[in-house]
Amino acid sequence: MRSEGLIAAQRKAKQAASEINLRVEMEVNGTMKQGNIDRVRALAPDLFNSSVGSLPDGWTDIVAAFVQEVSDIGEGMMSPAEVRFERTIAGLKAYIWPNADMQWTDGKGVQLIEAQRRLYILSQHKCEDCGADGKLVPLGDRVIFYLCQEHEDQAREKLTAQVQAFDARVRFREEVSILFQKHSTVWLHVSDHNEPILREALTDIKKIVVDRDLVGKIYVTKINESEGQLFLAVRYDPSVDHATVLDIDDIVHHVHRLSDEASMIANRGSSDDA
Ligand SMILES: [Zn+2]
Repeated sequence: MRSEGLIAAQRKAKQAASEINLRVEMEVNGTMKQGNIDRVRALAPDLFNSSVGSLPDGWTDIVAAFVQEVSDIGEGMMSPAEVRFERTIAGLKAYIWPNADMQWTDGKGVQLIEAQRRLYILSQHKCEDCGADGKLVPLGDRVIFYLCQEHEDQAREKLTAQVQAFDARVRFREEVSILFQKHSTVWLHVSDHNEPILREALTDIKKIVVDRDLVGKIYVTKINESEGQLFLAVRYDPSVDHATVLDIDDIVHHVHRLSDEASMIANRGSSDDA
């Protein structure tokens, strides 16, 4: 039997892993679309910095307003500063290197600092995804986003779904626990494309074991994946009849075949995306 403490610890690890995955996914999807980058560039080409491209689309409007404001300080004569942007967990920061060739008055200096500060504060109230009114949303321990209600709900649903999938796997492990030896460390962590294949196989093997009164004589001793392909190993007590060994070996071979096909499709899918 798996101790409750161990499952709770794994559940926590799953939650943390899901949060990290979500952050990576949101940050990758969150980089600015070319159309928005071009819009910011067109406002003040001299001020343009490639760091704009790393920002989320939802912040395009406030970045555009900031760039316009800074450009106006130069009064059309020259670019008043070099600017680099960084999305931080505290908000959107603009790092500014003022142009020493410009005639700086106190007023212009203050204007520049105010623009920088306004951008930072505004970013804390704008959804990174869509630019609607948003707020700081901590998703778990280390993952912080600025999101509107709709996008916050979507992000939370994703996290919940992943943890529920984990819980479902724990329940399934209990359902087929007679297939594993006491204190067995065999666990059902497999890729999404192998999950239904594994479930069906274990359900079928369990049915044979129960129907033929072979509980305690047939154990699944290994479940692992290599390059996306799923492998099962089964150990039989010498008293198990030959026909049953053949039936279960059939299921195991079927798993290898199905998984081979499924992993090819999954790999093809990911290379199409690239
Ligand atoms: Zn939004």
